[in-house]
Order: sequence, then structure tokens, then C-alpha cells
Amino acid sequence: MSVHDTLGRPLRSLRLSVTDRCNLRCHYCMPEDEYLWLPREDVLTFEEIGRLVDLFAEVGVDRLRLTGGEPLLRRDLTTLVAQLASRRWLRDLALTTNGVLLADAASDLKRAGLHRVTVSLDTLKSDRFKRLTRFDALGGVLAGIEAVRREGFRDLKLDTVVTRGDNDDELIDLVEFARAADAEIRFIEYMDVGGATAWRPEAVVSRREIVERLSDHYGPLTSIDEASSAPAARFRLPTGQTIGVISSTTEPFCRTCDCARLTADGVLLLCLYAQHGTDMRRPLRAGASRETMLNLIRAVWEGRADRGAEERRAVRGRGAYIPLAVLRKDAHLEMHTRGG
Ligand code: SAM
Repeated sequence: MSVHDTLGRPLRSLRLSVTDRCNLRCHYCMPEDEYLWLPREDVLTFEEIGRLVDLFAEVGVDRLRLTGGEPLLRRDLTTLVAQLASRRWLRDLALTTNGVLLADAASDLKRAGLHRVTVSLDTLKSDRFKRLTRFDALGGVLAGIEAVRREGFRDLKLDTVVTRGDNDDELIDLVEFARAADAEIRFIEYMDVGGATAWRPEAVVSRREIVERLSDHYGPLTSIDEASSAPAARFRLPTGQTIGVISSTTEPFCRTCDCARLTADGVLLLCLYAQHGTDMRRPLRAGASRETMLNLIRAVWEGRADRGAEERRAVRGRGAYIPLAVLRKDAHLEMHTRGG
């Protein structure tokens, strides 16, 4: 039986963060030198994740996305993928990764039953990659993308967070790279979420500007009209290639959000901008009944009224959303804990 929140939004998809650790330090997500990590004993086991996703399925979830931190850092991730992929209710099982470890994992992930992969790719320049992520790992990411193609995954997506002065001169190169890789590229507006401690409005390259710049190069883009809860607005280039733009900052889409997030330690979050979540791990580990857990999920979703990105857009004089001193006290406020 499905659940709807106070704005009539159904709960359909769940982003599962499987670790808060990451092997990159992207400037828009983990720019600091030190982080507070989740205690290891709090991290959900695969068995616990399985029990929770089955409960979510009972209220309407049929799409799962594995994320992190960097999900490929979670030991034996393919075992989890195989367990999840065997669920009869599952319609879509996707992975969001920075790609660094993907080349070695792609074949096992495919065999385990993963449906789709999204790779974050912000630049095609090695020196720039190193500056923006603090690791010299672009070669590994590109090899990962190649491996995903080789394994025959369908629907490969490349996600690029565009920040002014850092990589906004690479829009065309990235579109061309995506075309050659038979992938769909999605440009993401820089968000002022927790973790983005260096955020400033001038660094945001808006959907409007992205579309204008692509139109200047390719000719007019056609908006693809589709009823979808996917975050990206999609466009067709005159060449026929499609691209997406995720405009969470300048044109948010909270009204169509059907997504909940579960952190690696089992905190249920309803919005990237949520300041608090609901701990699912404690009742689960305390032996709460299926009915109690289901009632908890239903009550949380049915009480949902947030429109986080829309409310942020209305704020004047915006800066980073969560002050660094507050972030340092609560890992759950971080983007890398929430899974993006
Ligand atoms: N490590 C994986 C990866 O790199 O894809 C998964 C986790 S990462 C937190 C997922 C995504 O969150 C990033 O690729 C990026 O698209 C998004 N993200 C993180 N911080 C962001 C920000 N400040 N603005 C926009 N998107 C952000």
C-alpha cells in the first residue's frame, strides 16, 4: 500500500548511503581537512539494509540507488547488490559513484544484477581533476566509464556539478565526451547543502545559463516534455543527443520529489536540506515488530511537508546552509553522509 505526504507526494524511491567514507575530496562536497565519521558499529549490516528496504517496498518504494560517501568503498558491495537485485518488487537498482574504483568492480556489479550506473565527472582535465578533488584519479574514472560500457550496462549517466570558474568552460567538451561514451550527461547546479561550506551564489551556473551556452554552440535546445519524478529536466540538442540539467538551486522541483534517503547508519531523511532525521536503526536493532517499523515509516512520510530547495531559494543573502561549527558536531548534516 502506498503512502503520500501532506503535499500528495508518494514515496517511490530510496537513496541508500552505504558508507560515509569517500576517496575524493570534491570541493563542493568535502572541502574541509577533517571530518567526523559515523561510528563503524552504527553502520547497518547488509541484512539490516535488506530488512529495511523490504519495509519501504511495502509502502511503495520500487527504486533503489546506492550511494555514499563512495559506495564502492563499502566492502563486498556486490554481495549487497546481488541481495537487493533478487527482490521481486524492485524495478530499478542504480549506483552513483565517483568512478575511481569502478574499472575493477564493473563486471562483478553487472553479474550481481545492478541495473544502472551514474558516474560523477566534473572535468576531463587531469590537473583540474586533481585540484578539484585533491586526488590524481581522472584516469581511473575514465577507465571505469569504459568498463561500464564494455559490460553493457544500459542508461549510463554522467553527472557534472558545474561551478563558475572551475569547470564551466568544459560544458561542450563534456557533452561531446558523453556522446562518444553513449551516455547522458546531466549538469547539476551547485547547491548550498551541508558540506558545501565554500558555497557562494556567484559560483552557481544556472540552468538558464547552461542551456544558453549549449544553444550558442549547438543551436536551439528542445525541452523534452515528460511526466517524471526524475530530478533532471531533459533537453534534445539539434544533433539528437539528449542532456539533462538538475536545477535544484534556481528552479527546484520539490513538488515532484518522491525520494527518501537512508544514511549508512539508518537515519531516514526526507530532504537534502532536512536538519533532522528519524533513526530507524535503534528500533530495528531493538527488535521492533514489522508493524511498528511500518507505522514509523508511514507516520514519517505522511507528516512530510518540506520543500527544502524551494524554501532555500526564497532566502535572501544566501551563503553556506550549515555553519562549519555546526557541521563539525553532526555528521548527519553532511552531503557525503546523506548521499547527494
Ligand atoms: N561518491 C559518489 C559520487 O561521487 O557520485 C556518490 C556520493 S556524492 C555525495 C553524489 C553526488 O552528490 C555528487 O556527484 C554530486 O553530484 C552531488 N553533490 C554533492 N555536493 C553537491 C553540491 N554542493 N551541489 C550539487 N551537487 C552536489
